[in-house]
Amino acid sequence: MLSDGGDDDSSAPARFELQEDPSFWKDNNVQVVIRVRPLSSSEISIQGNKRCVRQDNGQSITWTGHPESRFTFDLVADEHITQESLFKVAGVPMVENCMAGYNSCMFAYGQTGSGKTHTMLGDIENGTRRNNEHCGMTPRVFEHLFLRIQKEKEIRGDEKLSFTCKCSFLEIYNEQILDLLNPNATNLQLREDVKRGMHVENLTEHEVSNAREAMQQLIEGAANRKVASTNMNRASSRSHSVFTCLIESKWESQGIKHHRFSHLNLVDLAGSER
Ligand code: ADP
Repeated sequence: MLSDGGDDDSSAPARFELQEDPSFWKDNNVQVVIRVRPLSSSEISIQGNKRCVRQDNGQSITWTGHPESRFTFDLVADEHITQESLFKVAGVPMVENCMAGYNSCMFAYGQTGSGKTHTMLGDIENGTRRNNEHCGMTPRVFEHLFLRIQKEKEIRGDEKLSFTCKCSFLEIYNEQILDLLNPNATNLQLREDVKRGMHVENLTEHEVSNAREAMQQLIEGAANRKVASTNMNRASSRSHSVFTCLIESKWESQGIKHHRFSHLNLVDLAGSER
């Protein structure tokens, strides 16, 4: 995440379309996408349209200080990119990955005010459907996930395909794991075993059957966090959270029973200003 603001004079930054290339995501397990946010009105009132970064193409961006430094990433999204476009290049492949049985994780990193909440949650006051153009990545991911589940069930009706989706939400605060869906449970333990792999013991899991229910769990859990994520202080820099959807599917084909599961993780990594 980059917030503009600095000592460059160029007032109208170049625009770049984000290229959708699904095969790219198949070949690369970790992707770093930079999103530049527009200048805020208070930044414009203090320093005009000066920016500290200049985008050179769809993959690289230059810090225009002295000396100039150029950085290259998997994708650079300019300040005009819509929530829907960013979702298409980053969110859709993540859901497709999970549907194919791979664990997937997304997190936003950047200093306070750089646009993490706008990107990951966006405007959810006016509804979490994709027809609210300002709603962010998370509600879009859930909506797409349940649409894909529905579609898959329709296409593969003869295979007795069934899906379950369970949500959990934990906070790591002061080296302790807390259960945000059950605030009475504190100091949970991280365990590893052959069957479940790495997991948090006794973490609450709530089954959800649509995007609205998943968002509800996320919003209720977020209200139980120790420190509001918008509060930039020492304590918030030690509070991280992980929202997980465990997606399980079962089906039968040619007399064989199949069982597939994957985790979709959304991480709020606090304290990234340091
Ligand atoms: P963070 O979560 O990193 O602290 P926010 O998401 O709260 O930052 O963003 C700070 C402000 O900038 C908010 O008012 C937000 O609406 C605005 N903002 C961030 N990114 C964008 C963007 N891409 N387009 C328009 N406004 C944005």
